[in-house]
Amino acid sequence: MSLAAAEATRLEIRSPVTGEVVGSVARAGGEEIARAVERARAAQPTWAEAGFRDRARIVRRFAERLKQRQEEILDTLQDETGKTRRDALAEVLTVARTCQYYLAHGRRFLAERRRPGAVPGLTGARETFAPHGVVGFVTPWNYPLILGIGDAIPALLAGNAAVVKPSELTPLSAVAAVELLAEAGLPDGLAQLVHGGGEVGAELVKRVDYVAFTGSAATGRKIAVAAGERLIPYSLELGGKNPLVVLDGAPIDRAVEGFVAGAFFNSGQTCIAVERAYVERTIYDEFVDKAIARTRRLALGYSRQWDVDVGSLISAAHADKVMRQVEEARDLGGEILTGGRRRPDLGPAFVEPTLLAEVPRSAELHDEETFGPVVALYPVDDADEAVTRANDTPYGLNASIWGPDGRRSLAIARRLDTGSASINSALLIYHSFAVPMGGIKQSGVGRRHGAIGIRRFTQSRSIVSSTSLAGGYDGILARVGSATGARLLAALFYLRAKIPGLR
Ligand code: NAD
Repeated sequence: MSLAAAEATRLEIRSPVTGEVVGSVARAGGEEIARAVERARAAQPTWAEAGFRDRARIVRRFAERLKQRQEEILDTLQDETGKTRRDALAEVLTVARTCQYYLAHGRRFLAERRRPGAVPGLTGARETFAPHGVVGFVTPWNYPLILGIGDAIPALLAGNAAVVKPSELTPLSAVAAVELLAEAGLPDGLAQLVHGGGEVGAELVKRVDYVAFTGSAATGRKIAVAAGERLIPYSLELGGKNPLVVLDGAPIDRAVEGFVAGAFFNSGQTCIAVERAYVERTIYDEFVDKAIARTRRLALGYSRQWDVDVGSLISAAHADKVMRQVEEARDLGGEILTGGRRRPDLGPAFVEPTLLAEVPRSAELHDEETFGPVVALYPVDDADEAVTRANDTPYGLNASIWGPDGRRSLAIARRLDTGSASINSALLIYHSFAVPMGGIKQSGVGRRHGAIGIRRFTQSRSIVSSTSLAGGYDGILARVGSATGARLLAALFYLRAKIPGLR
């Protein structure tokens, strides 16, 4: 839809399970987007000047409110996504943990730091972190609260304003969260939402000072081009085709539990979910039999209770895409070990948790992200083959390793071309806030979490100083006018590298 046509219409949000309208939001036209960014720009300098402590007070109150209103937010998340209550809870807890982590460490990560100067004793240096200004978030539907609001928390704490374009399929939990931010005392204009499809995201990217994008590699490429045109910084959190490696000697029953959890959490609609498994041939049959049995025990459906393991996919159109990949893989010679069927009796977007074997290279499912409850299993001769095949992909987001001991698993983890590798887990990286998370190759640019996860929302600026004696540093250098002077300078220059503490 063009931006002009979009003006003044409302976007109805429907449950992917029942098809009922569960809410609506106003679609933003070009003028609304411009106005939102202007309001954000006007509010941001005072917010930046307020200092970390004042900003933290508001984020702390937001986290308290999120806890108090958890049940309501879980309902909203389930309404708009069709996910299980457990998957919705993971969203709320992850946003809460984002607040806790950056409230505890953000101030230190952003503190002005003294650094060694160019010439010890005569010069000094400082590194400072200044907010970008207005950060634009363009976000997907799979974790609307984490990606729409959780990622904006460190941006706000760093002194930015945030304008978020949630997925057009799932804007309602972001609306609820922005209300909670306002109740917590966040000044007007600092956290705003603009609703609509890709055209709204594209317009937002033209106006903000930094873009934090999460979504598909195809859209990420467009965002990078648009940001490149304007020479503004950006981060891209994109898709994955995440491998799991199981070595002979690994505790098979536990590996099967971890595999099933890592594959089917959030119905497989998780950027870091397991999509491929490479299992050493010696244990392949046992692993496969147990994985089939465990997968068949998963309860598929929709419920406000905690009795369902795997929920709906986001839409019938997405279920079509997932099924197309499964059916093509089968038609090209792949074997469906379990699942592989649509479940219209449960709703229009349910797909059974599915395991496949012998998927040929020619099948799209072999290399392309499926983003559903589907995993292909492959036997491998040894760990080397597992590593080679795991790395043979344009993606590089996350990997999972199950081995006989920690040392071997660690050695494998170091050889995997992914932004993160998890030993005895698949999804652990998302909850490991102290280390950066993000992709390499076509899985992304930039990182969330850790120090970099808040510093990315700042410009690093350096201030260096010199004694003023003799015209300062430049004046001293300019005095070198003889061979003796030059020799002395060079001697001091090379001597420095030999003195511990001055290197
Ligand atoms: P998508 O790329 O279709 O859409 C993401 C967002 O971009 C939406 O808000 C959409 O409206 C907007 N958009 C679309 N075209 C645009 C354009 N030309 N300019 C600006 N904005 C535009 O992705 P999706 O289908 O919503 O999400 C699924 C994808 O997200 C999967 O590939 C998944 O792996 C990825 N993902 C990655 C991470 C991560 O952290 N790496 C996390 C979650 C999801």
